[in-house]
Amino acid sequence: LSETAETVAGQPGVMKHGEPVTILLNAGLSAELEQTMGDRVDGVGLYRTEVPFMLQSGFPSEEEQVAQYQGMLQVFNNKPVTLRTLDIGADKQLPYMPISEENPSLGWRGIRLTLDQPEIFLVQVRAMLRANAASGNLKILLPMITSIEEIDEARKLIERAGHEVEEMLGYEIPRPQVGVMIEVPSMIFLIPQVARTVDFISVGTNDLTQYLLAVDRNNTRVANLYDSLHPSVLKAMYQINLEARRHNLPISVCGEMAGDPMSVPLLTGMGYRHLSMNGKNVSRVKYLLRHLDCSETEQLVAQVLQASTASEVRYQVAVFMERRG
Ligand code: PEP
Ligand code: MG
Repeated sequence: LSETAETVAGQPGVMKHGEPVTILLNAGLSAELEQTMGDRVDGVGLYRTEVPFMLQSGFPSEEEQVAQYQGMLQVFNNKPVTLRTLDIGADKQLPYMPISEENPSLGWRGIRLTLDQPEIFLVQVRAMLRANAASGNLKILLPMITSIEEIDEARKLIERAGHEVEEMLGYEIPRPQVGVMIEVPSMIFLIPQVARTVDFISVGTNDLTQYLLAVDRNNTRVANLYDSLHPSVLKAMYQINLEARRHNLPISVCGEMAGDPMSVPLLTGMGYRHLSMNGKNVSRVKYLLRHLDCSETEQLVAQVLQASTASEVRYQVAVFMERRG
């Protein structure tokens, strides 16, 4: 039987030379799809909790959130499930909490908003911790982090939520790992400090590209300028992974790049081994990984990091892929 994307769908992620790659799911878009992915992925690398919030007509109660998160933690029972705290603002608006700003991408968004409205954050984190009380496979991910102070402040609130839940339940609950998104360029240069305050990081290449290139990711007028293969984005990705490894900080990628066949050879060549992607990309990426040898992808990265333009990068990756059939 010859190998196709379909035949490798249920197998673990592994490169040609036998090295494993953790394949994680970006969840929150389709509950039906997620139900079927439990044994095809190694866990959930990103659950965008704002999606269910956006579909409601008012803030979901703590109880409603507990039920939602419990469902997610149970589908993937003994695998890690990374729940990201609310990332609203900018393009992601709640109909019941309109925000009008001149420059929303640089405005009140993600962790900025929930630290200013700690009640929203506390309710959500309590719900996560209650949902996790029995299963213990929760990881909490914080979006739009720009500074270490934000991490410290969020961690204090998470600790407080933990005490509140323990008081309510009357027993000790497991403490989840806490990580942050690396998606604002300021964080590229703070990885050593981040490593001292969190358990893991996840690179959000969608926003990292938007903010590094100063190109609104949703503005069709400048869509031709939005390019994750821009050499500066790649240099940043390379640097982030290098620093994280140097400081023993577990790292994954959860932006669109992680599921993009043009980017996967580059990410693996840089040393990334944890990729979180939409369900529809899982089989294709697993298939591709089986044809990638890390000494070859490392060579490709060395070459690509010398490129001047995204089209040069694209050409080099295309030539590399063609040589491998
Ligand atoms: C990202 O920015 O890359 C990311 C994964 O988060 P979102 O797309 O939800 O902003
Ligand atoms: Mg983002």
